Amino acid sequence: MSGNAFKQVGARGLILNEDLLWEKGKKGRSGMSLPESGLPPASLPAELAGTGPDWPDLSEQEVARHYTRLSTWNFGVDTGMYPLGSCTMKYNPKINEAMAALPGFAQAHPLLPAEATQGELRLLHELETYLAEIVGLKAASLQPGAGAHGELCGMLMIAAYHRHHGHRKTKVLLPDTAHGTNPASASMCGFSEVKVPLGPKGFMERSAIEKLMDDDVAGLMVTNPNTLGLFECELAEIIELVHQRGGLVYADGANLNAIMGYADLGKMGVDVVHYNVHKTLSTPHGGGGPGAGPVAVGETLLPYLPGPRVVKNGDRYEWNEDLPLSIGRMHSFYGQFRVLVRAYAYILSMGAELKKASALAVLNANYIKEKLKGTFELPFDQPCMHECVFTDAKQQPYKISTLDIAKGLIDMGFHPPTVFFPLVVSNAIMIEPTETESKEDIDAFIAAMLEIARKAESSPETLTSAPVMTKVRRLDETTAARHPRLTGDMR
Ligand SMILES: *Cc1c(COP(=O)(O)O)cnc(C)c1O
Repeated sequence: MSGNAFKQVGARGLILNEDLLWEKGKKGRSGMSLPESGLPPASLPAELAGTGPDWPDLSEQEVARHYTRLSTWNFGVDTGMYPLGSCTMKYNPKINEAMAALPGFAQAHPLLPAEATQGELRLLHELETYLAEIVGLKAASLQPGAGAHGELCGMLMIAAYHRHHGHRKTKVLLPDTAHGTNPASASMCGFSEVKVPLGPKGFMERSAIEKLMDDDVAGLMVTNPNTLGLFECELAEIIELVHQRGGLVYADGANLNAIMGYADLGKMGVDVVHYNVHKTLSTPHGGGGPGAGPVAVGETLLPYLPGPRVVKNGDRYEWNEDLPLSIGRMHSFYGQFRVLVRAYAYILSMGAELKKASALAVLNANYIKEKLKGTFELPFDQPCMHECVFTDAKQQPYKISTLDIAKGLIDMGFHPPTVFFPLVVSNAIMIEPTETESKEDIDAFIAAMLEIARKAESSPETLTSAPVMTKVRRLDETTAARHPRLTGDMR
């Protein structure tokens, strides 16, 4: 690729329509043929007849093509670059899938006794140890089923701690940049939200906390690096302030991909953090799951971790149910077990290279930021962590908005970045390339963004009408959400 010239990534031609299975097939078609049984046909008992769904009759080829075509309508990290900020859409090594599919893991019954699941228990125990070590905390629980569930778990532990110590705390401090799940989790634990305003440099300032911190504050929930992709530079002092007035600190670990092996949350004073293993630790995500949101805690919250917990006794692993202060179960059985197998496989295969993953994620984001910053408005112009946030301010004079930029990218073969988040930046465009993209792919993305900026000036209509290279054109998103049309006809 020469210079910054954009080269079309996508092409049209064999994007096929697909009807519902019920609209296909012919009565009597089948995916298999069985030999004559020689038995007389039997009919279902009257009470069962006619109760099931009216399954369509289809050949194997019809079914195979149906699902294969549908799969081509999807765009994922296995299709191309997916720079969706805050989501860490890194490539997921396929070895993780092979490990999660091992029969010993895939077929283990959740009710098997500990003697029959030593391998599974060892995996859980070791993964907990690795997770705690990565952030510099004492111990971890793998139970929560997602990041937001980990937040809930962490805030339940903070609430249990205050209850146990006879503290009456009613409020939680939340920076402006917080992901919406943070105030939701605080509220589900009965706390009211106190907003911490963003400092001029894009992170929280100690002075803001000094003003807001009082004896009613149960704690602070903080994402570091924050959702602007910036490191919370005053966090250690802020945490000290919160601790001095009896509060605890919850770290939202969704952005851990930027700091693995670099930042020691334990030393910073964090009391509890969640991981999004489906972001940082390379589990496929999107479409709603499944993921996992383990939490790690320091000394203070150790007794409150969810139970039961796996413990190592000599060379045997067993369940410990004797946890008098535990908040109890957050999940049935072992949590999202096979998601955890993927995280374990990823950590073991990466080892100390996890640190390099963070370094490359940060390098890639800064590279994009530097290449685009003259062309797109960069509200906080300073070194970023694993993602960078632009706005449409330089394109607005041509009546081109963040949404048009996102839709234009689709026509050029890229999944759009995150748009209109974080809310503190109006019309945000949040780009997170992750460490797994090659320099060539990142350059191609940069070239596409620069081409969009040129189009905004010279042919804005090609952006306001985008996407045109896709199966469906620009959706009326409100109507699509309120009145989804769920038939197969997408023409
Ligand atoms: C993704 C994310 C969450 C929520 O995690 P889920 O696994 O989607 O529940 C919370 N906070 C931040 C900053 C995130 O990016």
